Amino acid sequence: MKFRRINPFRQGRDRDARSLAMPFTGEARIPDRTDVVVIGGGIGGLTTALHLREVGLRVTLCEKGVVGGEQTSRSMGWVTSLGDGPGRVDLSLASAALWDGYARDCGPALTFRRDGVLLACQTEAEVERFQAWIDRHDAAGGSSILRGAALAQRLGGTVPQGTIAGACQAEAGLVDPAAIAAVLAGLATARGAIVVQNCAVRGIERSAGRISAVLTEQGPIKAAAVVLAGGVWSRRFARSLGIDLPLLTARSTLARTGPVSNGPAGCGALPVAGWNALTDGSYLVGRNDATAPLTADSFRLFRQFLPALREMGDSVALTIDRDLIASFLARRRSPLDRPGPFEAVRLLANTGDPQGAETLCRDLAQAIPAFASTHIVCAWGGVIDVTPDRVPILGETSSAPGIYLCTGFSAHGLAMAPAAGRLIADQIAGRVPLVDPSPFSMERFANRAQRTHNGM
Ligand SMILES: Cc1cc2nc3c(=O)[nH]c(=O)nc-3n(C[C@H](O)[C@H](O)[C@H](O)COP(=O)(O)OP(=O)(O)OC[C@H]3O[C@@H](n4cnc5c(N)ncnc54)[C@H](O)[C@@H]3O)c2cc1C
Repeated sequence: MKFRRINPFRQGRDRDARSLAMPFTGEARIPDRTDVVVIGGGIGGLTTALHLREVGLRVTLCEKGVVGGEQTSRSMGWVTSLGDGPGRVDLSLASAALWDGYARDCGPALTFRRDGVLLACQTEAEVERFQAWIDRHDAAGGSSILRGAALAQRLGGTVPQGTIAGACQAEAGLVDPAAIAAVLAGLATARGAIVVQNCAVRGIERSAGRISAVLTEQGPIKAAAVVLAGGVWSRRFARSLGIDLPLLTARSTLARTGPVSNGPAGCGALPVAGWNALTDGSYLVGRNDATAPLTADSFRLFRQFLPALREMGDSVALTIDRDLIASFLARRRSPLDRPGPFEAVRLLANTGDPQGAETLCRDLAQAIPAFASTHIVCAWGGVIDVTPDRVPILGETSSAPGIYLCTGFSAHGLAMAPAAGRLIADQIAGRVPLVDPSPFSMERFANRAQRTHNGM
């Protein structure tokens, strides 16, 4: 962990931004009544809406901006489980099959390609760790350790200096992040979901201890269950319900290159950067690091996040900017009868680091010569929601019956959200859940704090 650029006026802070997402043109108004309201039209909310329709429930999804506008469209597009730890791996493995199903149902509009992922190894210890993961989780799934010619072939012809092997999950998938939300919103709508954009949810109304309505900027919707899939906004929304969600934010920069010939296959990462080969010959590229802005919540949640910060080492840098002061000044509760914080920022993103993207392209070209022939076409930033153990928080909370959480994907939402959405739908419908829900419960944080308190 290190500090970087302690400059209160620096660019790069979080702000209302331009959408990179393919537009979803379906227009809808809120209904008077529904079975479930989903808050948020990112990958978490959309997959939940799809699986709720599958179990026959009426569902209305409210998105304060445009579907996919925040993290989902600004991401790298990897759909892989390779190297995932306990809990996450079950969701990622189950999600890959669900992505196949969405791709079948959406046709060519949804490009989910199983072109594989390659994670470069610099030491034999890393190779051993990946081999142990493969033996345990994916021995039959086509994952293997590549060396020599096989490795060079995946990397476009040469093996960069310092790389001794690569862990390859041949069946890992990739998507075009800009397109997925609009396409899945179209599928959900075709199956009967109501997807309303530019419709912020301000709060929840309860009567006799149960949810009675969801209050949106367009008016109330009567409903008995709510799924909170608000990405980086989930902590703020949950606080108004008395739920203290342990979520902080991190920022990352991505860029799109021009066409590259004979570049690396599929998606992958070297120590210097990661990539996703798009179908038109261009690449999404980004460094494997992030910055974490200090905010009032960083101090409130410091103890819970300290182990994660230590583990991530230099791959995360703490920054201070104007958002620190703003976070202390922000109102903790807003009146529900007038526009509030969710309407004030329709699309939260980060300016990113365009100059850093140019350097990244040069660094990448040193490792993989194919990138020497291209340039950066555009660069952007994204703001990611992160939990202390980087495992999402899913399911109903004991403190707020009827509220289901689907959030905290910690930079792996494309890989995990389909199974997460299915799990939430299973829980609401009272079906046997697709995967064991216990690793994802909100209560795990309380139990951990209790164990620490008891010296266990
Ligand atoms: C640079 C970058 C690279 C990434 N690369 C990958 C990758 O390769 N693979 C991978 O698996 N993951 C990746 N991720 C992470 C992935 O993008 C996220 O985990 C995932 O998109 C989170 O989905 P979500 O639905 O939870 O949140 P979001 O996509 O952020 O959606 C939440 C939505 O909720 C809406 N909302 C919030 N509050 C309200 C409200 N009160 N009323 C109405 N709407 C509301 C917001 O407007 C937003 O659209 C990356 C992320 C970034 C930023």
